[in-house]
Amino acid sequence: MGSSGEWDALVIGAGVSGLTTAIRLAEAGFRVRVRAARPPQETTSAAAGASWGPYMVSDARVLLWSEQTRLALEKLSEDPATGVRLVRGVEASPRPVEAPSWMRGISDFESCPPDELPPGYACGWRYTIPLVSMPRYLDYLVNRLRSANVSIEIAPISSFREVSGLARLLVNCTGLGARSLVPDDQVYPTRGQLVVVDNPGIDHFFQDHVEDEKLTYFLPHGDHVVLGGSAIPGSESLDPDPVAARAIVDRCAAVEPRLRDARVRRILVGLRPSRSRVRVEWATVDGVPVLHNYGHGGSGVTLSWGCADEVLSLSGLQ
Ligand SMILES: Cc1cc2nc3c(=O)[nH]c(=O)nc-3n(C[C@H](O)[C@H](O)[C@H](O)COP(=O)(O)OP(=O)(O)OC[C@H]3O[C@@H](n4cnc5c(N)ncnc54)[C@H](O)[C@@H]3O)c2cc1C
Repeated sequence: MGSSGEWDALVIGAGVSGLTTAIRLAEAGFRVRVRAARPPQETTSAAAGASWGPYMVSDARVLLWSEQTRLALEKLSEDPATGVRLVRGVEASPRPVEAPSWMRGISDFESCPPDELPPGYACGWRYTIPLVSMPRYLDYLVNRLRSANVSIEIAPISSFREVSGLARLLVNCTGLGARSLVPDDQVYPTRGQLVVVDNPGIDHFFQDHVEDEKLTYFLPHGDHVVLGGSAIPGSESLDPDPVAARAIVDRCAAVEPRLRDARVRRILVGLRPSRSRVRVEWATVDGVPVLHNYGHGGSGVTLSWGCADEVLSLSGLQ
């Protein structure tokens, strides 16, 4: 670990990974500070859908981290102020495939009879998962940090050396920013776009079981529904694409016709921090020991509490 400073830990990054990690460390009794280039509501995390479920991510520990996070989110769903709610819905595949093991672990998991699937799908499953309204959830995480006396400083860092004397532990939760900060050329953006519409009365989710550039899913969040989506590897643009947005609405309306004329509130665009595998490990960068927690791809919310637990156990603070 680095030289001792005023803080036990400095967490760099204020997306879902940084905030959750900071909560775990602070609630374990350590003096923690967060520093980030952008505030929580301006991160990739704020643009996520967000449903629980490992997607576009790899690491042997992903299933464990996902399961740990599901349990944590289920607990948080008891308080509506968190923005987390448990919702039952359908996941369907255009090809006949086995249900993944993580899905079969959900207590109310069942196969969906073929005659109850939307047109064009060969098989599907029903289950209940946490859906997370990210703007509200990020506010909840910030408030929980405030209660633990953790403040968030908005200022970028250009190297770990710059902050190495400030805390005993540096945790790197910079998402896509790790590409230039570490630097790590395994990190790349996968652009995603969502359309937020008024909710015409939908109380279940739907998502297709594909890892494709064009996705079809809708996630109800009370008075609005988040429609998805897209996954374009290598694209850096944060500009909304109106043609792709119309196509998202059309794909979702083919599954749920009530969505066809729903009023569009906004279009969200974010860059998933993709990597060949999630990076949660110690490394020495520029002579400075850093505990990394980045590269969560399309599953940063799904992995957040599991990875925060992993950081706490690897931290050496306890
Ligand atoms: C359209 C879309 C839909 C998604 N849907 C889901 C979903 O349904 N379920 C799910 O689990 N995941 C989903 N994801 C993925 C999820 O959003 C990401 O995996 C997650 O947000 C990554 O969080 P993070 O905290 O690691 O990174 P970010 O949210 O990007 O936060 C990174 C933080 O690091 C800071 N930072 C970067 N560089 C520096 C620097 N040099 N100095 C200081 N600070 C720095 C940033 O300012 C920011 O505060 C989706 C993503 C998109 C785009």
